[in-house]
Amino acid sequence: MDGERERAADLHMHSTASDGSFTPAEVAAHAHKLGLTAISLTDHDTVDGVAEAIQAGRDLGVEVIPGVELSAEEGRAEVHILGYFMDINQEGFLGALNEFRQERIRRAEQMVDRLRALGYDVSMERVREIAGDGSIGRPHVARALLEKGYVNSIQDAFQRLIGRGGPAYAERYKMNPEQAIHLIHSAGGIAVLAHPVLVGNDEIVERLCRSGLLAGLEASHVEHTGKAYKRYQQMAERHGLVATAGSDCHGPRGKTGILMGRCTVPYECLIALRQAWERAGSDSPPVDTFS
Ligand code: AMP
Ligand code: FE
Ligand code: FE
Ligand code: ZN
Repeated sequence: MDGERERAADLHMHSTASDGSFTPAEVAAHAHKLGLTAISLTDHDTVDGVAEAIQAGRDLGVEVIPGVELSAEEGRAEVHILGYFMDINQEGFLGALNEFRQERIRRAEQMVDRLRALGYDVSMERVREIAGDGSIGRPHVARALLEKGYVNSIQDAFQRLIGRGGPAYAERYKMNPEQAIHLIHSAGGIAVLAHPVLVGNDEIVERLCRSGLLAGLEASHVEHTGKAYKRYQQMAERHGLVATAGSDCHGPRGKTGILMGRCTVPYECLIALRQAWERAGSDSPPVDTFS
């Protein structure tokens, strides 16, 4: 493409619809500023920000793909599944996402109770205010602790109090990876396994890659070293999956600042994903609403 910049896509990021700090429109604006051709907004357990991001992207000439990130669990391993191209108005899908968000609220309440029992004066009202309309997550609890001066940073809150196994940590119900993938399929989307290195167990990653349920594997992610990237890229290739990339940007107040654009794939990768979606659509997956 003589002298032209390569068309690039970043397929994993968050907005204020979950635990990111850019609004969905700001997400699109920042992607435009970086010269990205396409992005996907993949908020935790919600597609509430997608329509706004698509509209803002349309105005600026950035293609925005509907996305979501679901948390699943297998044994002790946490497995995040990205969904792309779902029908964001599908009732069964929206109902299931709503249940997950209720479960997030219940779990945040439990963490606030634990914190209060430990002597930290934080309130659920404040946590809800911080989250606004967004899907509640631990980063919102962390911010409530930070503004009261109980921790030095969001990361500090995770390390000392609300990280997995920490004194104020509470579990929440999580589906297994297959259920998360089926839910995405039931809304007409395709599934990609997010940041496989964070699963912490390549046997699970391999098994899911072999299952025939995934369209892609997120080989490039900010938490992946060059070595991990290579390993997962080869794994994707072995299983005929699209190797995708996502920065997992949580906006300017995220763990390490604005990450958007740090992990990208050439636009052709998005075309390959779209083709996988079109192929999947032709053998239309059964409507399999998760209960
Ligand atoms: P939750 O979905 O409520 O379990 O919270 C998980 C979210 O917290 C992730 O999506 C990240 O945005 C954030 N997070 C996880 N670990 C850390 C950490 N060590 N420091 C800061 N943020 C984190
Ligand atoms: Fe997050
Ligand atoms: Fe994730
Ligand atoms: Zn994410």
